[in-house]
Amino acid sequence: MILLRANCFFCSVLAVFLPLTASFAQVNQVTNIAPDVYFHEGDIKNNGHCNNGWIVFEDYVLVIDANFPSGAKELIPKIKAITSKPIRFVFDTHHHGDHAYGNQVWMENGATPVAYAGVIEEMKKHETGYYGSVDGRWESAAKTRPDVAASKLKPPSLLYDKKMVFDDGKHRVELLHFGVAHTHGDGFAWLPKEKILFTGDACVNGPYNYAGDGDTGAWVKTLDAAKKLGAQIICPGHGSLGSGKLLTDQQNYFLELRKQVRKHQRTKPEEMSEAVHEIQASLEKQHQIARYVGDFLPAQVEKVYQEFGGKPFLKETTLDEHQQHVREREK
Ligand SMILES: [Zn+2]
Repeated sequence: MILLRANCFFCSVLAVFLPLTASFAQVNQVTNIAPDVYFHEGDIKNNGHCNNGWIVFEDYVLVIDANFPSGAKELIPKIKAITSKPIRFVFDTHHHGDHAYGNQVWMENGATPVAYAGVIEEMKKHETGYYGSVDGRWESAAKTRPDVAASKLKPPSLLYDKKMVFDDGKHRVELLHFGVAHTHGDGFAWLPKEKILFTGDACVNGPYNYAGDGDTGAWVKTLDAAKKLGAQIICPGHGSLGSGKLLTDQQNYFLELRKQVRKHQRTKPEEMSEAVHEIQASLEKQHQIARYVGDFLPAQVEKVYQEFGGKPFLKETTLDEHQQHVREREK
């Protein structure tokens, strides 16, 4: 575990500190991005884990994202190695399994799961096993993930509508919601003093955009609102840590994707597979966004094509694929 510590005034070190963290930050390692603020890039490729963060307040720890149960179990000892303060809250940035199914593990360790109220609305749609009697996404994930099968779904129980603030005079974390993006219930964690933004999967750094539960047009607008915060460090839901520019790259990916798909608005569904290749070639040519192109592309194209009024043209994507985000493209 590598700990990078900023010992001088935060703003003055940002310029040199960020490139350092960017080159040192590695999967499964703890990075100290500001005094008492930590980032941990999850192993998406092998375990489907999301990224995490945590803020050590005067009397407790607030964790960003619950991860899958196996991710939560991996993270807890790493937090305890840094602080003896109790982990009181875990913030689910959205309802997906790789961000919320670990809630039970955190609860057993004394934490309360917190979320934007829309997360519950999303869970009611998709977690039909918990809220009804028909198997839903949790049951589907449990078939292939022993960590999920060995635990229980615990929806977040402390909810906010517009904003929730944690402030002990030293640190301030604002939990926000800017509208539909990756899902209909995306929450952000904003640290105004440090200018750090935890985005969940509303912003990722690499080929990890699952678009099936959101709306790409609204996503662009939500990222506009997030950009207005003026963040200098972005902790994405997946992929490595970035500067404020990461929000722009993510937004440009969807703007370009929508522009390319718009050209094929009148292409017949049966001819769309060919169009996907054309769109891929055009996106990959653009240096700033090429890293977002991956195995999710056909599904992303189909989603946008449907948003423009087209009919689906792919076989249905399995739940496991998007819950684990494991279809990272080998480059
Ligand atoms: Zn995710």
